[in-house]
Amino acid sequence: MPAPLSVPLPVPLFAKIAIIGLGLIGSSIAHAARRGGLAGEIAGHDASAAVIETARTLGFCDTLHDDLALAVREADLVILCAPVGAYKAIAQAAAPHLKPGAILSDVGSVKGAVMRDVGPLVPPGVRFIPAHPIAGTEFSGPEAGFATLFDGRWAILTPPPGADAQAVDRLKAFWQGLGSQVDVMDAAHHDLVLAITSHLPHLIAYNIVGTAHDLEAVTEGEVIKYSASGFRDFTRIAASDPTMWRDVFLNNREAVLEVLGRFNEDLSILQRAVREGDGQTLFDTFSRTRAIRRAIIEMGQESPAPNFGRDLKE
Ligand code: NAP
Repeated sequence: MPAPLSVPLPVPLFAKIAIIGLGLIGSSIAHAARRGGLAGEIAGHDASAAVIETARTLGFCDTLHDDLALAVREADLVILCAPVGAYKAIAQAAAPHLKPGAILSDVGSVKGAVMRDVGPLVPPGVRFIPAHPIAGTEFSGPEAGFATLFDGRWAILTPPPGADAQAVDRLKAFWQGLGSQVDVMDAAHHDLVLAITSHLPHLIAYNIVGTAHDLEAVTEGEVIKYSASGFRDFTRIAASDPTMWRDVFLNNREAVLEVLGRFNEDLSILQRAVREGDGQTLFDTFSRTRAIRRAIIEMGQESPAPNFGRDLKE
């Protein structure tokens, strides 16, 4: 049950929203905002003319603009949905055109760096409330988006200290309207939580798939043929967008290094247990981790069906 909001909210929530970056997340926001009737006008802009053309064909925005200034003009909510590394340049270019009173937000997978890069560029009177939907797939681009992406998933808002409470409430209602459950936390805590739940798993997946590819004693054909034994599940994560993930690791360095250090220590314990034939340590560790998967399923964040609900014949 969502927490009660401090003021009654208008319908639609925003007369005009502007989505900057029309890939997986930006296009999904557009689809879901339309489904929920959250915006009078959904304006879109992307750096790529080809992406704008595809967005036009798919029709998930009401208006599309090659010019960033035209997209954000008169928008009550502007959401940056490009890779995090592009935010600073976008914020610089958009700042003079933002409507006084508008909310400026984003969907970036890291939050400390977004506060650092974008925060100082926000004009007085514009309310800056960063956000991060914990939802995604390994696909990118405007064709990858869909209206139900955020349903039942969490969105985390990281308002800076002293942020306008009404703007936070309104953005919260927007994300609830997109289908999400909403949490609020500070940016540094967000970055630590996501370092362990998202960033480190991606680094491990990229590494293990790379290692398998480089192994000389096992052929690539064998790796692919026998992938259903576990490897395949890593390849889904390791297929994620290289630009986005490069930017995540460049922008959440401290938290990732902190959890990576801890991960390496724990891996050494398992390595020693394997070397010494210490079955008890292995069994205890594997039993503990099984319980975590059960908890994720119980919280509705994963399918209880065997093999992630895949109907692939193995
Ligand atoms: P995506 O599918 O690759 O879409 C990003 C879009 O932004 C692309 O169309 C890209 O165009 C465009 N773009 C790049 N630079 C731009 C600029 N300067 N101005 C306007 N548009 C620009 O990526 P995504 O998965 O939607 O990710 C977008 C953001 O969501 C990232 O910040 C990411 O951290 C965050 N996020 C992603 C996920 C996920 O699972 N994918 C989940 C939560 C949050 P080009 O392709 O031509 O460069």
